[in-house]
Amino acid sequence: MKCRCGRDAIIFRPYEGVALCSRHFLKSFEKRVFKTIRKHGMLKSGDRVAVAISGGADSQVLLELLNKIISPRHDMEIFALAVDEGIEGYRSKTLKYAKALTEEKGIELHLFSFKELLGKTLDEKVREVGRDQACLYCSIGRRWILNRAARELGATKLATGHNLNDEAETILMNWIRGDLFRAARYGAITDWAITQTKSQLFIPRIKPLRESPESECTLYARLKGFRFSRRICPYKGGIRREIWRFLKRFESRHPGISFSILHTFDKLLPLIRQYAEEREGPLVTCRKCGELSSEPVCRRCQLWP
Ligand SMILES: [Zn+2]
Ligand SMILES: [Zn+2]
Repeated sequence: MKCRCGRDAIIFRPYEGVALCSRHFLKSFEKRVFKTIRKHGMLKSGDRVAVAISGGADSQVLLELLNKIISPRHDMEIFALAVDEGIEGYRSKTLKYAKALTEEKGIELHLFSFKELLGKTLDEKVREVGRDQACLYCSIGRRWILNRAARELGATKLATGHNLNDEAETILMNWIRGDLFRAARYGAITDWAITQTKSQLFIPRIKPLRESPESECTLYARLKGFRFSRRICPYKGGIRREIWRFLKRFESRHPGISFSILHTFDKLLPLIRQYAEEREGPLVTCRKCGELSSEPVCRRCQLWP
């Protein structure tokens, strides 16, 4: 297959019917991410952006592209955050890559750990609560740490490396569970809690890669020569993994279905938010940790007492 420029193609995008050479793929990939950022107003003058990095391909791509936008500007700042959940033989390796990349780019990196902030490593917790619960305990703990760390370090935005596949997966999960309140907090910029409460406690999260398929994020990282781990978290399992597999199969038979899931969700989001606003009680501050919560004691303090 040939690219429109005549060079050999390295990728065919079935959802567009387009083949691209490496040069035009890189260009088109970046253009799409920049367009996502613009379309949703993810960045503005005066922003200090915390980028959550894990050492995986996605978060390195995210750091590269945000740095490309922010580093030439004098009215924005960027720094990186990483969380060590304490997963033996997995995270220590990916964190090594994260450190290397931030050093190379001269971006400050702040590292936090479950052990230090939640009292236990994820491995220790999983031994108590069982493997099936790992993703729940991990995501609640991570989100709490990232939000608090970003705020204490003066960030105005928290960027995460969620790609199109992650987004479609989560949308389907919330759909299946019928969890409209959780869905209401989703979207391109998760600032709904702030507009609701006018609180400064919550740092809006942005997801510039949400319209970029996982396979293309990985290809971009490879072409850029990033070193990253391909290992999947040893705890990834349960319904999320099944939906991930289902979407992969579905996408290969019906190219573009993940985009469609995402865009349909974006169109419905104002309605979902309206529904949630009318029914959900106001957010309060957690009695134990003081963070925003929909219950008197937040999920983090319930799960990680
Ligand atoms: Zn080309
Ligand atoms: Zn709490």
